[in-house]
Amino acid sequence: MSGELLGVIWDERFNKISFSHPMIRDISLQRIKKFKEMLDNVPRIIIIKPEEANEDDILEVHTVSYLEKLKEVSNEEFIGFLDGGDTVHYPGMFSDILLVLGSTFTGIKYLKFLEKVYIPLGGFHHSLPDRAMGFCPINDVALGVKTLLKEGKRVAIIDVDAHHGNGLQEILYRDPVLKVNIFGYDGKFFPGTGRLEERGEGKGRCLNFNVGLPLDSGDDSFEYALRMLDLVYEYSPEYLVVIAGVDGHRNDNLKSLNLTTNSYLNLGIRVERLRKRLNAKVLSYGGGGYGPYSSLCMISFLYGLQGVNKRDEKPTQSKNEDIKKTKDVVKTLFFEGFTHCL
Ligand SMILES: [Zn+2]
Repeated sequence: MSGELLGVIWDERFNKISFSHPMIRDISLQRIKKFKEMLDNVPRIIIIKPEEANEDDILEVHTVSYLEKLKEVSNEEFIGFLDGGDTVHYPGMFSDILLVLGSTFTGIKYLKFLEKVYIPLGGFHHSLPDRAMGFCPINDVALGVKTLLKEGKRVAIIDVDAHHGNGLQEILYRDPVLKVNIFGYDGKFFPGTGRLEERGEGKGRCLNFNVGLPLDSGDDSFEYALRMLDLVYEYSPEYLVVIAGVDGHRNDNLKSLNLTTNSYLNLGIRVERLRKRLNAKVLSYGGGGYGPYSSLCMISFLYGLQGVNKRDEKPTQSKNEDIKKTKDVVKTLFFEGFTHCL
């Protein structure tokens, strides 16, 4: 068992915040509520109440006109969409956005005293500088990473989710931060980005790694993809920013991958091992999750971080050709590493 405390950012308002499409809004809210109920099972938790961010903080990544738009729709009396039909806006949402962003800043503040922090409602990795996308009105992770970079910290991102973190990748594409993205991919599945050849530019050259798993991949492929964490070790970051999105579970309503809680437990175990070896700090997020197992997957990730080896499901296996594809992708990226990308 590892001895360190895990700070969990929590505000009762989280029970009522969802930026998801109305059809899955209830599932999103249930997920957060159930997570909090199950949190007592995780050892050495300390609850931290977040402070709201200031609106100017948003401008570090987003445009002035987009900030104005967020404030404007928040003042409207009706519910609508911020984008083509995924991300909702509702009366008073701007204050919720500031609370979500403030959770990241509060987390970073507490990492001066703690080794690891988890933000259940966070990891909005689709949002772009001038628009919302995929249930994500602002990019809280990019804003957090920019803060750490400004403090001169060496940062690595491990972005695990059923969907590629297109916004996070785009915003940090030219920044000196390592990005390892593990997600479901067939070239068409939302958001459609995440090609192997997207390796970063400028100061971010060779620092972006996209491990697209074939749709319907099981725990074995995911486990293989986690070998990418050896590259993270080599990069030697001071901060590990981890999105542990749980929508890759086999029972998720936005079904794409065929993972079980084992994958999230293993992710937590591997991140904790890495943290100890690097003596790094961990800022982690709940990411996406829209199914009956979402809360348990989140808790499984925390079990991994806190040294509880509790397995609730039988591991799943991928088709032979799919695990071969994953192995080829990982081997290619390892071969290219930090220097051999075009
Ligand atoms: Zn997702």
